[in-house]
Amino acid sequence: MQLSFEPLTLKLRRPFNIAHGTSHTRQNVLVRIDGGIGEAAAVPYYGETADGIAAYLSALDFRAVADPFEIEDLVAALPPGSPAARAAVDIALHDLWGQALDQPLYRLFGLNPNRIPATSFTLAMDTPRAMAEAAAAASETSLKIKLGAGDDAARIASVRAATRAPLRADANGGWTREQALRLLPLLAEHGFELIEQPLPAGDVDGLRALAELRSRPPIFVDESIATSADIVAHRGLVDGVVVKLAKCGGIRAALRQIAVAAACDMDVMLGCMVESSVAVTAAAHLAPLAKYVDLDGPLLIDNDPLRGVEYRGGRLVLPAGPGLGLCSRDVN
Ligand code: MG
Repeated sequence: MQLSFEPLTLKLRRPFNIAHGTSHTRQNVLVRIDGGIGEAAAVPYYGETADGIAAYLSALDFRAVADPFEIEDLVAALPPGSPAARAAVDIALHDLWGQALDQPLYRLFGLNPNRIPATSFTLAMDTPRAMAEAAAAASETSLKIKLGAGDDAARIASVRAATRAPLRADANGGWTREQALRLLPLLAEHGFELIEQPLPAGDVDGLRALAELRSRPPIFVDESIATSADIVAHRGLVDGVVVKLAKCGGIRAALRQIAVAAACDMDVMLGCMVESSVAVTAAAHLAPLAKYVDLDGPLLIDNDPLRGVEYRGGRLVLPAGPGLGLCSRDVN
């Protein structure tokens, strides 16, 4: 088999401002293995860069690989390093697998595409007023607001007053314990469905203190979780985990993390990075397994290279083509 890759510069529709910083573009990498395609997200706060991903992929040699069905062995044999690059290879192999069998991935996994929870749409951090205006203008069925800087109490109240949509919040680790102890009851009071990553990754004692709050929304961890072992380590401390292909290393790893979370009595939110339809459609094929879905990457960008999962309001519609089911944007 032949592996090749190319850079993919994603242009964001609006500046993406979160507790980790602001982006106007993101540099991802598209990977092709024969006719299969995958995508690696270069997420700055996970230490991933397009150059690092390219260096990782340059060292791979698939020329001696003849059987695309041995995905488990092929993925297990990948060298350690860049989870995003490993995810891209894993996604391309799954795409190839589905194409070889002429079936969409969700069917090969035995999943019902009509059982996907509605996705939330992310509102980047801005002034309370600007976020309220964005919330009022949004047609999506569920919104996730980015928090993690001063004025968060005002952001929470303003957005809640501006929309009747179900709301979620993501602090991206931007709060101190003191702030989180103050703001979680406020989120509960305003009916937020959940809060993601209230404290910096690694503050396990802080999570223990938050868990004991009498009034709080369910707490999910995202940046705290990279491996299945991390999920086990958070058992009993949080209500759920955010699983992302670029973080865990691909579809196979995500399936394992979803099973581990279930074994630990934790809910799963399936999330994405700033990614095109390539990586997000791959995740969407697993979405019937998640309690919450946050797969809005293609809605945040202006130059999606391909068509895959479609959005009807917050509902995800999976493509019926084989593998990932991606097709050119010119095809109707
Ligand atoms: Mg998050």
